[in-house]
Amino acid sequence: MLSFIRSDIAQLTAYTPHPGGASGSPALSSIAMDRLDTNECPYDLPSELKEKLAWTYQQLIEANRYPDGGHEAIREAIAEYVNESLDKPLTAANISVGNGSDELIRSLLIATCLGGEGSILVANPTFSMYGILAKTLGIPVVSVGRSEANFEIDLAAAQAAIEQSQNPPIRVVFVVHPNSPTANALTAKELEWLRSLPQEILVVIDEAYFEFSQTSVAGELAQHPNWVVLRTFSKAFRLAAHRVGYAIAHPELIAALEKIRLPYNLPSFTQAAAQLALTHRKQLLAVIPEIRANRDKLIQALSGHPALQVWPSDANFIYLRLVEPFKDDALTHLAQNLKAQGTLVRHIAGGLRITVGSVEENARSLSRLQTLLEASPSASPIPLS
Ligand SMILES: *Cc1c(COP(=O)(O)O)cnc(C)c1O
Repeated sequence: MLSFIRSDIAQLTAYTPHPGGASGSPALSSIAMDRLDTNECPYDLPSELKEKLAWTYQQLIEANRYPDGGHEAIREAIAEYVNESLDKPLTAANISVGNGSDELIRSLLIATCLGGEGSILVANPTFSMYGILAKTLGIPVVSVGRSEANFEIDLAAAQAAIEQSQNPPIRVVFVVHPNSPTANALTAKELEWLRSLPQEILVVIDEAYFEFSQTSVAGELAQHPNWVVLRTFSKAFRLAAHRVGYAIAHPELIAALEKIRLPYNLPSFTQAAAQLALTHRKQLLAVIPEIRANRDKLIQALSGHPALQVWPSDANFIYLRLVEPFKDDALTHLAQNLKAQGTLVRHIAGGLRITVGSVEENARSLSRLQTLLEASPSASPIPLS
């Protein structure tokens, strides 16, 4: 270990990114993989929009010039989009844009907890980046559990953790609405608890799947200056390759995030892509009802299976577990067998998270799962050859 590197960094392992599907894995390059492990939209940008974007690059973007570091145009456009579902309009002063919402999560941690000022609270299983990013900054992570039946947060444990926390106290609570990997939206009880939290605690509500869930707390932001909503262009807007996320919050919190971020965090091409996606949002979001309907069909088809427990979903992915007596290694085998057959899924928290893909991908997910379960979920993986 190089002696100038912080000792706590030695304890961490680097995040293993998405393997990159067919092209990223030489052993599987002959098979077109169904990449159902990262919850993207199954459809690429339509080619006429890609052509428009290419034209923008060719005609309007000067590669030798720095990007718009104030994000004026894109923040205005995002505010207009957010306002579509609000009674009281927000402005660009309520919006900060990040290189993916991951960047905003890190900025929020820096703004609140760095330097021993605070720790964070998460309810597992949930999105792993909150804990991963906190640890890289030396910020303690307090975890509570969820109901095994419906994945509701253990609110008694969460409240107790907040009351007992000191040195440093809990400064931020992270929730996902709907949660990943378990696909459940916040319940009335959970929302009531979040509303009851004191002003010294920042509540981060990650709405990465807003366009699929069609439910948001953005309308309550005006009453809660200690709340921030995070959203992303990586899922419903089909721009995961471009890395754009945004925060919606009180202007003072936005001003803090603006101080923390790198000045040119969003490339010009990425800003152009986000602008284009917003301009054509009607067209891009038109597939959402279809994805929701396909999700429900997938859930219904799998729900009857005696070896599976499948939960309802408010997002574009489903979560399932094997029922007793199957153990976690049976699930590992199942995930490996699915991969060997060409379906990538996420094995997480004792279950499988499967993205709703195209109609063909969903049909393959279903038939591969059913076939493998018939053969016994604990069967050894099919060798790749
Ligand atoms: C996918 C996802 C994001 C998006 O992250 P980006 O950095 O914007 O790509 C954020 N939060 C959750 C819970 C997600 O599942």
